[in-house]
Amino acid sequence: MSEGRAKRFPLPLNKVSQSTAGATGPVRTVLRPQLHLQQAADHAARLSAPTGLGLDSAGVRLRMVQRLQQEGLRDERVLQALSAVQRHLFVDTALATQAYEDTSLPIGHGQTISKPSVVGRMIALLLGGAQAQAGGQLGKVLEIGTGCGYQAAVLAQLAREVVSIERLRPLHDKARENLAATRAHKIRLIYGDGRLGHRPGAPYDSIIAAAGGDDLPPEWLAQLAPGGRLIAPMSQATGQGQVLVVVDHVLERGVTRFVRNAYEAVHFVPLKSGVM
Ligand code: SAH
Repeated sequence: MSEGRAKRFPLPLNKVSQSTAGATGPVRTVLRPQLHLQQAADHAARLSAPTGLGLDSAGVRLRMVQRLQQEGLRDERVLQALSAVQRHLFVDTALATQAYEDTSLPIGHGQTISKPSVVGRMIALLLGGAQAQAGGQLGKVLEIGTGCGYQAAVLAQLAREVVSIERLRPLHDKARENLAATRAHKIRLIYGDGRLGHRPGAPYDSIIAAAGGDDLPPEWLAQLAPGGRLIAPMSQATGQGQVLVVVDHVLERGVTRFVRNAYEAVHFVPLKSGVM
């Protein structure tokens, strides 16, 4: 991390407070730029306490992000993005009180919303790609597995554009509803088989899969821009669970190479073929 960037941490909370526009709680007027994360969270906790569950307050998200930070998620851009998205709006009302715990939750049709720590970890790894490092952001992103749209909303905080594909029609429709209130202009939702990518939008600077298969579909590599990075959960050759796989598209002296690295074990829903 460069000196300049390190100095910007604690989080510039003015951005967090802007993203609460529409929230009715008193938190928005209280958070100030440069306020320390711990102080802000304590402050927000006190002030949001009387307003019911307080799920729409920035304080709840700040506390989640603070826990993720303590557990090792260091990238301030990712922490900022996670703190800007209201996760409870992407799950059923009955599960809303659990929305700011670091846990995956059912979203219907046998699928789950990913854990915030995993969403954060994957985006942090994507930001380490050559093109993302050069631009400081994710660029044009392809997401496979829209689900409820939560991760797409987080990606949109750090991307020029997000194209997100879902193979289950009811979830595709649900995500459209969920995202209607956010920066939907940056997110294009596609109903289709994500194993084929989305050629009309290619090439992508970043590709992220929210479902894990036994292989990497060749179309993903074909649609990854030079300098771009792909991240996907993938079953190990041994068939023993999944790991996160990162692939970089390296173009040197006119020769294309794909450099692959495996990271920690993860548990994602399966990547399936076709649409339903
Ligand atoms: N990013 C999502 C996580 C959803 S779970 C969120 O934030 O909620 C993964 C999703 O991948 C499921 O909705 C599943 O239907 C979808 N999926 C699985 N295989 C797919 C494929 N081939 N193409 C598109 N979506 C797929």
